[in-house]
Amino acid sequence: MTDAPFDTLSHASRAMTDPYGRTISYLRVSVTDRCDLRCFYCMAEDMTFLPKADLLTLEELDRLCSAFIAKGVKKLRLTGGEPLVRRNVMSLVRSLSRHLKSGALNELTMTSNATQLARHAAELADCGIRRINVSLDTLDPVKFRAITRWGELDKVLAGIEAARAAGLAVKINAVALKNLNEDEIPSLMEWAHGKGMALTLIEVMPMGEIGEGRIDQYVPLSVLRARLAKRYTLTDLAESSGGPARYVHVSETGGKLGFITPMTHNFCEACNRVRITCTGTLHTCLGHEDAADLRKPLRLSADDELLATAIDRAIGLKPKGHDFIIDRRHNRPSVSRHMSVTGG
Ligand code: SAM
Ligand code: SF4
Repeated sequence: MTDAPFDTLSHASRAMTDPYGRTISYLRVSVTDRCDLRCFYCMAEDMTFLPKADLLTLEELDRLCSAFIAKGVKKLRLTGGEPLVRRNVMSLVRSLSRHLKSGALNELTMTSNATQLARHAAELADCGIRRINVSLDTLDPVKFRAITRWGELDKVLAGIEAARAAGLAVKINAVALKNLNEDEIPSLMEWAHGKGMALTLIEVMPMGEIGEGRIDQYVPLSVLRARLAKRYTLTDLAESSGGPARYVHVSETGGKLGFITPMTHNFCEACNRVRITCTGTLHTCLGHEDAADLRKPLRLSADDELLATAIDRAIGLKPKGHDFIIDRRHNRPSVSRHMSVTGG
């Protein structure tokens, strides 16, 4: 039997390739815009969250994710807001894990602030999650409180330990913040590497109104890397996930250090990812205002063909790259939505 020609395939099973030849295999899903913290670079203190009625149900999120998996998504990351604050989110994780068992999905993972991870780590591992990203910008409880506005560092550390005890590989993500944690990066790295965890540094991205200017927060990772290179032997690693991180091996610690530099390095050529929000909006580029509503086609028909057609139409418009700017003339968000809406 020969393969069906491309244009006789139903939209529901057609692979997602954008106009620049990039195949989409990675989906990030923001399951809620809410969070139990208020990291100052991410959210305003008095954030207005979406009305709960606008959110997709967990069953609808499952259907949406499954439609993407049928169209070739191999890696799926649940994020937010804080994914673990969405009521009953573990039922979604449990249900999506069937795609791991069937082999349709290679990886199901999550990005979390870890405040609630101690309660959920064992079940996440039981659902087939192997790795989790935890965001942690400092090991100083006072600074942690200042950055998150009211977070307790102890809870996060307990969450990380629970995840490790459950056998999950933990990667720490830290946003580099001028005059706040930039001097602490070596100790954060030694702590993470000492526990066998990779550390990835992230540049602040200009997303969403947060009530203060970005220029006060931004420190280029090129500067931090140069400082680290004076103390440590950094060797570039070739590996790439098709994502924005570039990794080095640190000889002195034996660990892996990543740099996510959207401001100083254009990583769009190899982009294999798209994002959906908890209201069913598809964003094909983190740095653009483009958006496609998938909630409507999802709800209009129990069959996935309408939905898949809407997905194909949006992928056909995926922008070539993004254009973030932070400087004194552009001291306002390049993209008006917050990171907590699209997920990191
Ligand atoms: N609440 C979870 C957490 O903090 O890991 C998941 C969502 S959070 C939006 C995902 C990632 O985005 C976190 O690592 C966070 O530090 C990062 N982030 C949020 N706002 C950012 C910004 N303006 N620039 C760069 N990174 C940001
Ligand atoms: Fe919440 Fe994550 Fe944003 Fe911090 S970075 S406010 S933990 S969503």
